Amino acid sequence: MAKELDTSIQYLSGVGPKRAALLQRELGIETLSDLIHLYPFRYIDRSGITPIAEVAPDLAHVQLQATVVRRTLYGPGSAVVSQETDPIHWGACKRLSVIVRDDSGEMEIVFFKGIRWNYQRLVPGGTFLFFGKPQAFGARINIVHPEVDAAREADAVPGTLTGVYPSTEKLKAGGITGKVMCKLQSAALALCLPEIQETLPEYVLRDRGLVSLPYALRNIHFPKDTYTLQKATYRLKFEELFLLQLSLLKQKYIRSRGERGLLMPKVGPDFHACYNALPYELTGAQQRVIKEIRSDLMSGHQMNRLLQGDVGSGKTMVAVLSCLMAIGNGFQTCIMAPTEVLAQQHYANIQKYLKPTSVSCALLTGSTPQKERRAIHAALEDGSLGIIVGTHALLEDNVVFRNLGLAVIDEQHRFGVDQRSKLWSKGPLAEGAPAPLDFASLIPPTASQRVPPIYEAMGGHGPGGQDSFGQNRIPPHVLVMTATPIPRTLAMTLYGDLDVSVIDEMPPGRKPVQTMCIGQNRRAAMYKFMREEIARGRQVFVVYPLIFESEKLDLQNLEQGYEEIVRAFPLPGYKVAIVHGQQTAEEKNFNMAAFVAGRADILVSTTVIEVGVDVPNASVMVIESAQRFGLSQLHQLRGRVGRGAEKSYCILVKDVKTSKEAQQRLDLMCATEDGFEIAEQDMKMRGPGDLEGTQQSGLPINLGLASLARDGRLLEEARRYAMQILDADPTLATPKNAPLQRELRKNKYEIKDYSKIS
Ligand code: ADP
Ligand code: MG
Repeated sequence: MAKELDTSIQYLSGVGPKRAALLQRELGIETLSDLIHLYPFRYIDRSGITPIAEVAPDLAHVQLQATVVRRTLYGPGSAVVSQETDPIHWGACKRLSVIVRDDSGEMEIVFFKGIRWNYQRLVPGGTFLFFGKPQAFGARINIVHPEVDAAREADAVPGTLTGVYPSTEKLKAGGITGKVMCKLQSAALALCLPEIQETLPEYVLRDRGLVSLPYALRNIHFPKDTYTLQKATYRLKFEELFLLQLSLLKQKYIRSRGERGLLMPKVGPDFHACYNALPYELTGAQQRVIKEIRSDLMSGHQMNRLLQGDVGSGKTMVAVLSCLMAIGNGFQTCIMAPTEVLAQQHYANIQKYLKPTSVSCALLTGSTPQKERRAIHAALEDGSLGIIVGTHALLEDNVVFRNLGLAVIDEQHRFGVDQRSKLWSKGPLAEGAPAPLDFASLIPPTASQRVPPIYEAMGGHGPGGQDSFGQNRIPPHVLVMTATPIPRTLAMTLYGDLDVSVIDEMPPGRKPVQTMCIGQNRRAAMYKFMREEIARGRQVFVVYPLIFESEKLDLQNLEQGYEEIVRAFPLPGYKVAIVHGQQTAEEKNFNMAAFVAGRADILVSTTVIEVGVDVPNASVMVIESAQRFGLSQLHQLRGRVGRGAEKSYCILVKDVKTSKEAQQRLDLMCATEDGFEIAEQDMKMRGPGDLEGTQQSGLPINLGLASLARDGRLLEEARRYAMQILDADPTLATPKNAPLQRELRKNKYEIKDYSKIS
């Protein structure tokens, strides 16, 4: 079985060892199967012929049928080497110009390569098909390096639409042109199509009106017409998205149905006390999310929920109210933040919210003194502490809860997933826990013992499972909060195994941040503006980029920038603090705290301030070399201001060398403050691979044909359908779903690199 498909590409006629190596290096193609799964990324309509008179430089591609009038060979500096005269010194020729004519007019075709060959073939009087992109050359229009076919070959093109395959300069130099690639595909398909097995169950094809796989493959390469191409594309895209969603959702089903969760049927008096004392109304979005969390806590299954909300959307309140629900059911809770400053801030805020309640709360970080630490450990163990706020210190083995019911993780992309899973093993002992609900009925006991792949990828910790003392524990509910807006389609993929809640509404009364983009020439004006703001008692952030590859250089920039700021804002009138990654945690905390407390007017930093610090008094965010930041990072940074009562500003300072794409990003920043709109645009502009800007890049899943940016509707459709199938058959155990099991086992739809997610 599957003999041809696994055949090395080198044995395909027209390939051989040299081209095989090239295809492998440039496109990762090793077997015939790899080759036929390399799809065209666009198609060219070769059926139409454009009259020369209608050729314009803004046309994408044109096809001419024209007769050669004359040929001219040029040497260096446009000296004419030869015009239809012999003998020719080929070595001196740099350019071949061919004038061609049809009924409507004349135009020039130019070659810089393959001069001799093209000269010899394009004999005056001969008629050919020329296919290429017209370009303006001064007042004239020409076509450089068109594909040339003899006129009568036109019918030999397999379809009216010709696929254009991904290619590189090296491939073209190695002779694998677009035309050659089409020939290879045609040969490979002839060998492989008889062997291709349908991957989707028959009922799925019927339900969704999908064409068969062999038909789809044939037509994605050589479409008969746009209709068949559409059918083929739809089938292949649907399959990709569907199997991906099926794989993610299946993991989620296994967990949510299979793993017992702590049952929390009540709300409790502390929730009500806090809620009733709130100085404001919850926004509609906050209320909705709290309801979603409440229904999770009542379900008897473990909650794994991602809460997305723009900076300032009020996630903390949701976290606190969720904790109070858990506490109302007799459980403890923890809130983990990625930095000490953030943990402190949370702690201070949360204590305010807790005033009307009887809940006790403590702060545990790396710098908590031993004595205090021991008291906290004891209070966690005897259950008297309701909420513990902290940093990674919470993960240490000697932090033992009496009955941890809910773990909240703030700003999750700073935490590794294995750290998240470490929290799961801090749940209550299995004996004392409520009985599982429909656990046994859904999954056979042996299957339930297995650790779902998602946990394996997280370093082997199963949810709950054994703690470091070897005791069985039930996982707490987990709420992960992130302020990085992620487009829906991407969230459905990256967090397909989590439930996602979104706070898409800002608390009333937030002032818009005025954003502007300036060049270096307006630096003096900017400093003047900063002085005015500082004179009014405000504070200013100045942020520099720090990108891994050029870390040294960036650090230099930061230090130079700092010196310049200190010169422009000298003591004793101004105090400038600096924070960067090379400092010790202590230095960082000290400087950051100085700014938070208002002891410094300006904070110069790398992007370390990106994550949730709240300095309501800061009214200006200056972002240096703004063109180097990704959109989502710019948005995060801007979210640091506009939190207080004052009008706030974000100044994007760009360098002279700002690409068109970067300028687009900066323009978008000036145009909108909506995080989700920015995230969507970001994905469209840059592709989802680089969504996280300079911090993270690369999507852990590679899709072939479908695009998370463009195929959002289809993705949702595929996800709904996958859900429908899993509702009926959660483990895909019925015979009709066997093909799906088989496909999922191939593993290609599993997220491989979890570090890129969290
Ligand atoms: P996030 O963590 O999502 O960035 P926070 O929870 O820090 O946002 O909330 C930002 C600010 O908005 C806080 O000062 C908070 O007290 C306030 N806030 C939260 N919810 C509301 C609301 N419903 N109405 C008015 N203000 C709110
Ligand atoms: Mg926050």
